[in-house]
Amino acid sequence: MIPGHPILAQSQRGKNHRVVLASNNKGKLREFSDLLGGLHLDIIPQAQLGVNDADETGLTFVENAIIKARHAARISGLPAIADDSGIEVDALKGVPGIYSARYAGMGASDAANNAKLLQAMVDVPEAQRSARYQCLIVYMRHALDPTPVICSGSWEGRILTEPRGSGGFGYDPLFFVPTHHCSGGELDAAEKNRISHRGQALRKLLDALRVLEEN
Ligand code: IMP
Repeated sequence: MIPGHPILAQSQRGKNHRVVLASNNKGKLREFSDLLGGLHLDIIPQAQLGVNDADETGLTFVENAIIKARHAARISGLPAIADDSGIEVDALKGVPGIYSARYAGMGASDAANNAKLLQAMVDVPEAQRSARYQCLIVYMRHALDPTPVICSGSWEGRILTEPRGSGGFGYDPLFFVPTHHCSGGELDAAEKNRISHRGQALRKLLDALRVLEEN
C-alpha cells in the first residue's frame, strides 16, 4: 500500500478523483477514459486546467513521459498521467524513436513523416525491415513523486514498401502486423487497441491503479 494515496483516499469517500492527462489528443483521452472507466477517476485533459505542453527534452520515452506528467502535476496540483510513444526501426538504429511525431520536422504531418520513412528505407531488403511501436505510460501522484508508476508496451511489426489502409494514424499504413497479415491502417480499431503497444501499457496501468485503489 502507498500511504495517503489520493485515489484511495477519495474513492473511500465514494467520490471520483480528478487526474490530469498530460495530452490534449482526443483519441488518447477516449482510450484512457474507456480503459480506466472502472476506476473512480475523472480524467481531465491538461488544456482544461490551463496546462501548456511541456518541452519534450528527454532522450528516452520514459524520460519524456515523466517530464510531461511532472509538468502537468506541478501546474494543475493534481495527480497526472502521461504517455510517450513512437516507432523504432531496426535498420535505422531505432530512428525515429522518440522523434516519431517530429521525424520530418516540428509539426510535420503523418504523410510527411511516412514519406521520409519510406525514403530512408528505400534500399533496405525485406529481411531487415523489422520495427516496433513502443509506449510508456507514467502515473505520478504529485509533481515530486519519487516512485511514479511506469507501464510499458511494445508491438512488433515490419515496415512496408508502400502504404496500406486508411485506418489508424501516424505510421500505421506502413506498419505490417505479421500476426494479422495486414497493416496497422487495415486493422479494426478495437483489435488494434487489444494488441497495440498503447493497449498493453494501458492495461498494465489499469492493473497498477486497481492495486493502489484496493490497498
Ligand atoms: P506522442 O506519443 O503523442 O508523442 O506521439 C508519438 C508519435 O509516434 C505519433 O505522432 C506517431 O507518429 C507515432 N505513433 C505512436 N503510436 C502510434 C500508433 O499507434 N500508430 C501510428 N503511429 C504511432
